[in-house]
Amino acid sequence: MAVSAGVISQELVYRVAYEANKRAAIAVPKDGLAAFEKAFARETKPLARFVLGQVLENAKLAVADERPMCGDTGLPRYYVKVGNTARLEGGFVALERSLRQAVADVTHDIQLRANRVHPLTRRNPGNNVGVFAPNVDYSFEPDADWLDITAVHKGGLFGTDYRMLFPADGVDGIKRFLLDTLAEFGRRGLSCPPVVIGVGLGGTKDQCMRLSKEAACLRVTGDRHPDPEVRALEDELVELANRTGFGVMGVGGDTTALDAHIEIAYTHTGGVPVAVSQFCTAYRRATARVSAGGEVEFRDDPVWFTPYYRREGIG
Ligand code: SF4
Repeated sequence: MAVSAGVISQELVYRVAYEANKRAAIAVPKDGLAAFEKAFARETKPLARFVLGQVLENAKLAVADERPMCGDTGLPRYYVKVGNTARLEGGFVALERSLRQAVADVTHDIQLRANRVHPLTRRNPGNNVGVFAPNVDYSFEPDADWLDITAVHKGGLFGTDYRMLFPADGVDGIKRFLLDTLAEFGRRGLSCPPVVIGVGLGGTKDQCMRLSKEAACLRVTGDRHPDPEVRALEDELVELANRTGFGVMGVGGDTTALDAHIEIAYTHTGGVPVAVSQFCTAYRRATARVSAGGEVEFRDDPVWFTPYYRREGIG
């Protein structure tokens, strides 16, 4: 049955979700490639330079062979931004069915690792789909009738941590927590730097965890927060992370972090919840916009953190 004009069809949502998921697994977005190339160009340690060269070579081969860029394809997830006046065939239930089907099909077709299992029985459905899997997060945008689908393949085990600070801990407390997190996972070989650091600052515990992951995965490298104080801290955190000297894959080098992004949320007056997420060397993300007329456009920048998404006042 044909869908009405201006309604985004379920079949199109499926096709775009499938393609975005596939692209995310295979191709490093342009901003990530540029950041790796910059790290390679400025690296002074021979071993780290060699490994960064291999990271770049791996990125090229993955595209040429149409294969996932890392054997561990993490946990595929979607971020969906919906225009306030967008109309979806079958509504959000149909959208979620399409996203889940796309994950199952991409897992089969390009051999994503079937990482999702039942947490107690370890039963593996073999398609990365199960209870609350894949994750789907939403945001909305005024004056828009389009649908943005961003696929991210993010590991789900290591590199992410949470700490409740007191206001008196200040910026030093945030820096200390970041260093502890980098050291804790880095020294045990449980992360693959260079990483993009995402920091969620404030809000509630669950909010800052979510923001840290979004900050790590959904902002392009080089992007800076509009708040000047937050922006300045982002620069400081990149420098701090790189002064640890862990370097690419922990071999010792100049670049441990490609970038650091901080997202803030207004929080309880008595505390400062902080979360850190790390987007690893397998920098995997793809975004597409589906217009109300059915046109599809892929791009590198998810444009997830819009002024509306970060809004401060009632409006
Ligand atoms: S941390 Fe990233 S690069 Fe390392 S194995 Fe996991 S997915 Fe691959």
